[in-house]
Amino acid sequence: MNPISPYRGRLAPTPTGYLHLGHARTFWSAYERARQAGGTLVLRDEDLDRDRCRPEYAAAMIEDLAWLGLSWQEGPDCGGPFAPYRQSERIDWYLEIWRRLAARGAMYPSPHSRKDVQLAVNAPQEGDSESLFPVALRPPSGTGQGALEPGPVNWRFRVPDGLEVIFEDGALGSIRSIAGQDFGDFLVWRKDGLPAYELAVVADDHAMQITEVVRGADLLTSTARQLLLYAALRWNPPQFVHCPLVRDAQGVRLAKRTHALALRTLKEQGRTPEEIRNSPLFQSEI
Ligand code: GLU
Repeated sequence: MNPISPYRGRLAPTPTGYLHLGHARTFWSAYERARQAGGTLVLRDEDLDRDRCRPEYAAAMIEDLAWLGLSWQEGPDCGGPFAPYRQSERIDWYLEIWRRLAARGAMYPSPHSRKDVQLAVNAPQEGDSESLFPVALRPPSGTGQGALEPGPVNWRFRVPDGLEVIFEDGALGSIRSIAGQDFGDFLVWRKDGLPAYELAVVADDHAMQITEVVRGADLLTSTARQLLLYAALRWNPPQFVHCPLVRDAQGVRLAKRTHALALRTLKEQGRTPEEIRNSPLFQSEI
């Protein structure tokens, strides 16, 4: 680590299962980019989902990353200025960001059930993996502005319809999406009192002064949403690099519930970290 390098990257796993080759691929790229820049790498445990995150998975992910040969300079057990790095211990910070967004009228309370949403979205959306939140369920502008507490209701970010969101991806080049068409009003706060992923990750990447986010290409749309949050908060966004997704032999994207390509399984089968790191998957530029 070069103490004067401004590069700050992060590994941000969610402990809802064991890490698989896809995670390893993304995290290895994040590690290599930080290392090549002589920068600092932060490990952040994204453990907000109370129902699905488990401490044993968090311990396993740290063990598996270390086994693979990764190291980081800040995070759980490393100390550093932003400890704790467990999102579940940073709720006050997220609430502060929720308040800033409320003061700016950037989001609104959304009491609709999933059923209401389904009813308002007409059938033609069938087959879409993610339907847009229906504009018909969006309240008049100003709703929720100046609220002091989120209360037991979901809050959604009001996207500027038709706004073109463009960013230069470090691997994929120019990425363009249109708010209100490619994605709709998205969740920023959940009625169970927790921030949604988009808010928590922006709040943390900003607080931890992350200069480059390396993540899987499944999060491309999330990046566009997050750029709107950065703009609403008047923060400079980091650079983004999206890594290609790893698929199994059948072409299906790896998921935590498929254990075949979990790092643990590969380790149990006698594969070494060197073999994994030398596989063609890990050799491409990003
Ligand atoms: N924690 C998220 C995940 O495991 C990734 C976070 C991010 O890169 O923003 O999918």
